[in-house]
Order: sequence, then C-alpha cells, then structure tokens
Amino acid sequence: MNFDEIIALDKADPLAQKRLEFDLPVNTIYLDGNSLGALPKSVKSKVAEVVSQQWGNDLIKSWNSHNWIDLPIRVGEKIAPIIGAAKGQVICCDSISVNLFKLLCSALTLNSERTVVLSTKDNFPTDLYMVQGLSDLLGPDLCQLQMVEEQDIEQSLNESVAVLLLTQVNFRTGNLLDMAKLTKLAHEKGILVIWDLAHSAGALSVELDKCEADFAVGCGYKYLNGGPGSPAFVYVAKRHQYAIKQPLSGWMGHSKPFAFNPEYQAASNINQFQCGTPSVISMSVLDAALDVWQDVDMLQIRTKSVELAEVFLQLIQGNECLHDLLLCSPKLAEQRGSQLAFSHHDAFAICQALIEKGVVADFRAPNIIRFGFTPLYTSFEDVWRAVTTLTNIVESGFYKEQRFNITLKVT
Ligand SMILES: *Cc1c(COP(=O)(O)O)cnc(C)c1O
Repeated sequence: MNFDEIIALDKADPLAQKRLEFDLPVNTIYLDGNSLGALPKSVKSKVAEVVSQQWGNDLIKSWNSHNWIDLPIRVGEKIAPIIGAAKGQVICCDSISVNLFKLLCSALTLNSERTVVLSTKDNFPTDLYMVQGLSDLLGPDLCQLQMVEEQDIEQSLNESVAVLLLTQVNFRTGNLLDMAKLTKLAHEKGILVIWDLAHSAGALSVELDKCEADFAVGCGYKYLNGGPGSPAFVYVAKRHQYAIKQPLSGWMGHSKPFAFNPEYQAASNINQFQCGTPSVISMSVLDAALDVWQDVDMLQIRTKSVELAEVFLQLIQGNECLHDLLLCSPKLAEQRGSQLAFSHHDAFAICQALIEKGVVADFRAPNIIRFGFTPLYTSFEDVWRAVTTLTNIVESGFYKEQRFNITLKVT
C-alpha cells in the first residue's frame, strides 16, 4: 500500500468531515481516543456558557430554567441510539464502577436463588474489584466471584450462575465478544447479563435491545468524548425496571426528591439509578460532545474502524523491522473492537518514544502497546504517519534511550 492509496481512502471516507468538529493538537497523531476522547469544538463555548451564564448569573434558578435537573435523562437519551436502546432505558450518572455496584446488587436480588457472578480473568480490573467488594460486604452465601478465560465463558454457564458480567471489547486485546449469542445462551440458563460497553459505545454498532440485554454500563470519556472524568451511563431494560431495587438509594433516585419525605420510595423508571446530585458542569460537557453523533450512522463508524485497523495492520506486517511486534488482538477484523494491541519486550519504551515523536498510543502492563482508532477523527493518513514513525523508532533503536524507561504514575 502506498501513500497515494492512503490519500484516496481519506478522499472516499464519508466521515472525513467529522474531524473538523474536533480540536486536535497540531503535529500530533492521536491514537488514544479509546482512553480519553478528543475535544469536540462545540464543548468550549458550552462550558463557558454553563459556567458564566448558567452558574455565574442564573445561579439556583438554572435547575429549572436550564433544566439541570433533567440532564441525566437528557444525556441518557442522547446516548441511547448509539447503543441500540429505545427511550426510557438509559441514564447518565456516576462512574462505571459505581454503576456496576448498583447493577450487580439489583441483578443478584432479581436472581436471589443463585450466588455466582461469572466474569473473565482479564476483564477490566474495576469490574472484578467491584464484585470482590460486594462479595466481602454480602458474604459468600450471597455473592461469589468466579473468573474464567474468555474462551471458556459458554461452557461455564450453568444453574449456579446468577449474573454474567462481561466487557464486550477486551480493554487489552480488543477481542470482541458476541453479545447476541452470549446473552441468549445465558438467558437459556436463567442468568442475567451485565455488559460493560466502555470500549464499545461509539466504537461499533451496539444493539442492546435487539440482543435482549438486561443491563449495561458505559463510559463518557472514551469514544463519546465527554472529557476527563465525564460521568458514565447505565442501561436497564424496560422489563426489569419495575421489579428492581438498587441499593444506593440517594435522593435523586426517589420518585419525588423534592417532597423531602423521610421514607425512600424509588422512582419506578430509569431515574431510580441516579444517586446524588448530578455533576452539572461535566455532564453539560458530555451533553455538548454528544451532538457530534446526531447525523452519524454507527454502521459507517464500524466500517471505517475496521478499515483503519486493517490498513494499520497491513502496513505493520509489510515491514520486516516490525516483526518483533506480536499481534495480541484477533487476526479477524470481525472479532475485534476498534483497537490493535501488540506485545513487545520494550513496549513501554517504544510507547514513550512514540509519544515524544507526536504519536500518542498507550501502554498496558505488562508488555502491550495499544493503538485506538476513533473513526470520527482518525484519518488514514494518521495511520500511515503513525506506522512510519513507529518504523523509524524501531529501526534506529531510538526507543532504547534511557529517558524512555522512566515509569510514570498513569500509563
Ligand atoms: C475505562 C473502563 C472503565 C472505567 O471505569 P470508571 O469507574 O468509570 O473509571 C471500566 N470498565 C472498562 C472495561 C473500562 O475500559
């Protein structure tokens, strides 16, 4: 593949114009939107307006006049079409970790004859930690974590399992699980499923309703570009909303928060999944960031994501000096999310050297470099330039310089 062919791909890309809606730093190729999404231009003026006008000037009135009180629902409804959810099932609140706690308790209560939460060994650690914390709280008679390898999920589904907790796209390898199939198999055994969409929402076309998913959580700051610490979201299928009771029964989940009753009465809809006061500034940022998606077809996102990764892989594989980079992601595009992971003995140093040369990827312990592809703002030319830079760094041994081996607090 040559440079002219790469430029032709950008010319033919129906999403190419979307890049103009983002504020990307010059001389930087950003392949880390799967960790922290880029800044949509519209966010800057929105933040200024929320801070100066809504907060600074209108103060407490803004809860009504700028409808702060409905932000969690409004933002949830903007996320819903991106993840294949009909109205009334998604709300924006808290972090994934906190939302997992709410869902795990809810699901264990719905399936109270059983005690096992089944997950995968290489799930994102917070997902596993939250089960471990809940197990400590409730005791092993009510909650036990069982971890299996990804390829053993199907054969581990049995009548002792209450909840199956899975991340659809593996955060290290990018391995994509079959949501439709696993949800169906789990349901056949009476198991409820919680999907973590941290690396799916905004990266591929997710069909929660079509898969008859029970519950899901997802991230605001990755592919949805809501900014650092952006609130997360929760999905609860309509059919579960009446029977369910989540334990973080804060006032914002009450059916009438401003009645100030001493007794908790959960809202009978998705509002119940709120706990305390929403983080208005952060959520307003996500609200503005989500407008970028209004005219986007998720199938186009998926098509471009696959092409970007395929081109990247082809360029890497066509290059003799990069043969020490071993692909840890599935070889087949349909089995991957929107990232490629490679292992290398010097992964950390290579990643640091890449960043110094303006190509931002990330390192995941123990020895993985991840390259994330965000179809809204990654171009084929970015991919070309990233592989060229990588080739230069490896060929010259540049990454072996001492300064690239200094460990940082956040990788
Ligand atoms: C990024 C990520 C999270 C983050 O959880 P927070 O509690 O929102 O910080 C959780 N799960 C997965 C799979 C992730 O990739």
